[in-house]
Amino acid sequence: MRIQPVGNRINEELRKGRKEMEKVIILGSGPAGSTAALYTARANLNPLVIEGLEPGGQLTTTTEVENYPGFVEGIQGPELMEAMKRQAQRFGARYEQGYVASVELTPGRHQLVLDDGRTWETVTLIIATGARAQYLGLESEQKLIGRGVTSCATCDAAFYRNMPVAVVGGGDSAMEEALFLTRFTSDITVIHRRDQLRASKIMADRVLKNDKIKVLWDSVVEEVLDVEKGEVTGLRVKNVKTGEITEREIKGLFLAIGHKPNTAAFKGRVDMDERGYIRADHTRTNMEGVFAAGDVQDAVYRQAVTAAGTGCMAALEAERYLEARGQ
Ligand code: NAP
Repeated sequence: MRIQPVGNRINEELRKGRKEMEKVIILGSGPAGSTAALYTARANLNPLVIEGLEPGGQLTTTTEVENYPGFVEGIQGPELMEAMKRQAQRFGARYEQGYVASVELTPGRHQLVLDDGRTWETVTLIIATGARAQYLGLESEQKLIGRGVTSCATCDAAFYRNMPVAVVGGGDSAMEEALFLTRFTSDITVIHRRDQLRASKIMADRVLKNDKIKVLWDSVVEEVLDVEKGEVTGLRVKNVKTGEITEREIKGLFLAIGHKPNTAAFKGRVDMDERGYIRADHTRTNMEGVFAAGDVQDAVYRQAVTAAGTGCMAALEAERYLEARGQ
């Protein structure tokens, strides 16, 4: 079968479907996407949200969220995301399942192709496709995500008060997670695969000087225990230099081995930094009418509330852009 260039496929689909040009399309349905949807819907722009691979975003893989303002007793991540979606829908936002496979960006007429071949055209595009935490890829780890395995100390550290925990990674994120955990427990082990930290000296020194944190050098996690029990009870760890395998009891495993922004579809279309995060100034990308919000443009804060904040900013920017064009 001959594979057609994306541009031709889009034009063919458009000829067949004759879809109307959308004013606002939002890619992603995490806190950034749904907040952008809420604001653009209330501005009467009838936004269309393409939900993405993980509808509701990263929060749907966490349990309790205690740091989203307004919820005194906390709220379950999936429940919060469902509420954001319903709030946006109340003002007319439309949600469609699917994810974007490719885009052709042209000022005033951005074109999208979804994984299943559906296509759309839009005047403004808000990219809120998020990022994903990197995991080790162990079967036991995957089964225990949200049951003791997590990638966010800011979100989950408070659940492990006075309990033994481990952090995997040797970069600044791992140091930051370990230091944050010292507020809750004094039994923290950083597990790093080499004998030297990648983190900046200042962060590394803080960790190495802290009595509550031990570093297990040259070590990798082989298995997270205990899948049978449905919760984390310990780790099987291998020393990569000696081959020795040991088990240690822990209740929480914090992965801090990096994040990857979900930007593959936009490569070469908008400016990105060397790690693939979209470069945005007040959510404006270098492409006219294309905005970025949430973790896709933020390697630093990565919080639901900051994502929601930039979702709001992107919506207001899109609104201004449309207004300036008389649309
Ligand atoms: P990072 O710097 O890429 O570090 C990732 C760490 O995870 C490395 O130590 C790496 O080991 C380890 N790792 C990667 N894959 C692994 C695997 N499969 N198994 C075991 N270990 C693995 O990522 P990051 O710490 O998230 O930081 C990302 C960027 O954000 C950096 O530029 C960082 O400086 C910045 N940041 C800054 C701050 C701050 O200044 N406060 C806080 C957080 C992040 P190796 O060292 O062996 O490669």
